[in-house]
Amino acid sequence: MGVHDDSIIPLPGPDGVRQPAAGTPRPWENTDRAQAAVDGATGPEPPGPPRCPHCGLAGERRPTYTDRHVLLEPGLVLPAHLVPGGHRWHLDGNGVAWNGGFAEPPPGTSCRVPHLLACPGLTLDEIRPWRWLSAVRGENARKVRRQAAGGSHPDVLPDAG
Ligand SMILES: [Zn+2]
Repeated sequence: MGVHDDSIIPLPGPDGVRQPAAGTPRPWENTDRAQAAVDGATGPEPPGPPRCPHCGLAGERRPTYTDRHVLLEPGLVLPAHLVPGGHRWHLDGNGVAWNGGFAEPPPGTSCRVPHLLACPGLTLDEIRPWRWLSAVRGENARKVRRQAAGGSHPDVLPDAG
Protein backbone atom coordinates (compact mmCIF):
# COMPACT_ATOMS: atom_id res chain seq x y z
CA MET A 1 0.00 0.00 0.00
CA GLY A 2 1.59 3.23 -1.08
CA VAL A 3 0.89 6.61 0.32
CA HIS A 4 -1.17 8.74 -2.03
CA ASP A 5 -1.16 12.51 -1.90
CA ASP A 6 -4.72 13.52 -2.64
CA SER A 7 -3.79 17.19 -2.43
CA ILE A 8 -2.13 17.13 -5.85
CA ILE A 9 -4.58 18.49 -8.38
CA PRO A 10 -3.49 18.08 -12.00
CA LEU A 11 -3.54 21.17 -14.17
CA PRO A 12 -6.28 21.19 -16.78
CA GLY A 13 -5.07 20.98 -20.32
CA PRO A 14 -4.35 18.71 -23.23
CA ASP A 15 -2.04 16.59 -21.06
CA GLY A 16 -4.86 15.94 -18.65
CA VAL A 17 -6.67 13.61 -21.03
CA ARG A 18 -7.27 10.25 -19.45
CA GLN A 19 -9.17 7.46 -21.09
CA PRO A 20 -10.32 4.86 -18.58
CA ALA A 21 -11.65 1.54 -19.81
CA ALA A 22 -15.33 1.13 -19.15
CA GLY A 23 -15.96 0.03 -15.59
CA THR A 24 -12.41 0.80 -14.43
CA PRO A 25 -12.29 2.19 -10.89
CA ARG A 26 -11.44 5.87 -11.07
CA PRO A 27 -9.38 6.94 -8.04
CA TRP A 28 -8.95 10.44 -9.46
CA GLU A 29 -12.68 11.09 -9.68
CA ASN A 30 -12.80 13.05 -6.41
CA THR A 31 -9.78 15.10 -7.46
CA ASP A 32 -11.40 15.85 -10.80
CA ARG A 33 -14.58 16.89 -9.03
CA ALA A 34 -12.66 19.27 -6.77
CA GLN A 35 -10.76 20.73 -9.71
CA ALA A 36 -14.00 21.12 -11.68
CA ALA A 37 -15.46 23.11 -8.79
CA VAL A 38 -12.35 25.29 -8.61
CA ASP A 39 -12.45 25.83 -12.37
CA GLY A 40 -16.14 26.66 -12.40
CA ALA A 41 -17.03 23.63 -14.51
CA THR A 42 -20.32 23.40 -12.71
CA GLY A 43 -22.61 22.29 -15.50
CA PRO A 44 -25.48 22.11 -16.12
CA GLU A 45 -24.72 18.51 -17.02
CA PRO A 46 -26.35 16.66 -19.91
CA PRO A 47 -28.94 15.47 -20.64
CA GLY A 48 -30.45 18.62 -19.15
CA PRO A 49 -30.66 21.66 -21.41
CA PRO A 50 -27.58 23.94 -21.58
CA ARG A 51 -29.39 26.72 -19.77
CA CYS A 52 -28.12 28.79 -16.87
CA PRO A 53 -29.93 27.79 -13.66
CA HIS A 54 -29.71 31.39 -12.41
CA CYS A 55 -31.10 33.37 -15.37
CA GLY A 56 -32.42 30.76 -17.81
CA LEU A 57 -30.33 31.95 -20.77
CA ALA A 58 -28.81 29.34 -23.06
CA GLY A 59 -25.04 29.00 -22.96
CA GLU A 60 -22.41 27.19 -24.98
CA ARG A 61 -21.91 23.97 -23.04
CA ARG A 62 -18.50 22.34 -23.41
CA PRO A 63 -16.99 19.22 -21.87
CA THR A 64 -13.85 19.69 -19.76
CA TYR A 65 -10.96 17.40 -18.86
CA THR A 66 -12.45 17.01 -15.39
CA ASP A 67 -15.46 15.11 -16.78
CA ARG A 68 -17.74 18.02 -15.96
CA HIS A 69 -19.22 20.62 -18.27
CA VAL A 70 -18.82 24.36 -18.32
CA LEU A 71 -21.35 26.83 -19.69
CA LEU A 72 -19.47 29.43 -21.73
CA GLU A 73 -20.85 32.81 -22.74
CA PRO A 74 -21.88 32.23 -26.38
CA GLY A 75 -19.90 34.04 -29.05
CA LEU A 76 -17.83 36.10 -26.63
CA VAL A 77 -14.06 36.00 -27.25
CA LEU A 78 -11.98 38.43 -25.21
CA PRO A 79 -8.32 39.43 -24.91
CA ALA A 80 -7.15 37.11 -22.13
CA HIS A 81 -5.48 39.90 -20.15
CA LEU A 82 -8.87 41.59 -19.68
CA VAL A 83 -10.38 38.51 -18.05
CA PRO A 84 -9.84 37.79 -14.34
CA GLY A 85 -7.45 34.92 -13.66
CA GLY A 86 -9.24 31.65 -13.06
CA HIS A 87 -11.99 32.55 -15.54
CA ARG A 88 -10.00 32.25 -18.78
CA TRP A 89 -11.30 29.28 -20.76
CA HIS A 90 -9.70 27.86 -23.87
CA LEU A 91 -10.97 25.33 -26.37
CA ASP A 92 -8.85 22.51 -27.73
CA GLY A 93 -9.33 21.25 -31.27
CA ASN A 94 -11.48 18.42 -29.95
CA GLY A 95 -13.94 20.92 -28.47
CA VAL A 96 -12.88 20.26 -24.88
CA ALA A 97 -12.61 23.38 -22.73
CA TRP A 98 -9.95 23.99 -20.09
CA ASN A 99 -9.40 26.72 -17.56
CA GLY A 100 -6.12 28.59 -17.95
CA GLY A 101 -5.95 29.16 -14.21
CA PHE A 102 -3.97 32.06 -12.81
CA ALA A 103 -1.00 31.80 -15.15
CA GLU A 104 -0.01 35.01 -16.93
CA PRO A 105 -1.65 34.80 -20.37
CA PRO A 106 0.82 35.07 -23.26
CA PRO A 107 0.58 38.45 -25.03
CA GLY A 108 -2.09 38.51 -27.70
CA THR A 109 -3.93 35.50 -26.33
CA SER A 110 -7.71 35.50 -26.44
CA CYS A 111 -10.04 33.39 -24.37
CA ARG A 112 -13.63 32.57 -23.59
CA VAL A 113 -15.41 33.40 -20.37
CA PRO A 114 -17.91 31.36 -18.38
CA HIS A 115 -21.49 32.53 -18.66
CA LEU A 116 -21.38 32.91 -14.88
CA LEU A 117 -19.29 36.10 -15.25
CA ALA A 118 -21.96 37.66 -17.46
CA CYS A 119 -25.01 36.20 -15.74
CA PRO A 120 -27.70 38.79 -14.96
CA GLY A 121 -29.20 36.44 -12.40
CA LEU A 122 -26.27 36.81 -9.98
CA THR A 123 -24.78 39.77 -8.14
CA LEU A 124 -21.07 40.54 -8.25
CA ASP A 125 -20.88 39.43 -4.61
CA GLU A 126 -22.17 36.04 -5.69
CA ILE A 127 -19.97 35.82 -8.78
CA ARG A 128 -16.75 37.00 -7.05
CA PRO A 129 -14.89 37.51 -10.33
CA TRP A 130 -11.66 38.50 -8.59
CA ARG A 131 -11.37 35.69 -6.06
CA TRP A 132 -7.72 36.33 -5.23
CA LEU A 133 -8.54 39.97 -4.58
CA SER A 134 -11.40 38.90 -2.31
CA ALA A 135 -8.86 36.82 -0.36
CA VAL A 136 -6.52 39.81 0.01
CA ARG A 137 -9.39 42.04 1.10
CA GLY A 138 -10.48 39.43 3.63
CA GLU A 139 -6.95 39.26 5.05
CA ASN A 140 -6.81 43.06 5.25
CA ALA A 141 -10.16 43.10 7.04
CA ARG A 142 -8.69 40.69 9.61
CA LYS A 143 -5.63 42.97 10.00
CA VAL A 144 -7.91 45.95 10.65
CA ARG A 145 -9.80 43.98 13.30
CA ARG A 146 -6.53 42.88 14.95
CA GLN A 147 -5.28 46.46 14.99
CA ALA A 148 -8.55 47.65 16.48
CA ALA A 149 -8.43 44.95 19.13
CA GLY A 150 -4.82 45.81 19.95
CA GLY A 151 -5.55 49.51 20.12
CA SER A 152 -2.36 50.29 18.19
CA HIS A 153 -4.05 52.22 15.40
CA PRO A 154 -4.27 55.97 16.05
CA ASP A 155 -7.86 56.10 14.80
CA VAL A 156 -9.09 53.58 17.33
CA LEU A 157 -7.47 54.94 20.50
CA PRO A 158 -10.02 55.38 23.27
CA ASP A 159 -11.42 58.86 23.50
CA ALA A 160 -9.56 60.48 26.41
CA GLY A 161 -11.80 63.57 26.50
ZN1 LIG B 1 -27.17 33.13 -16.11
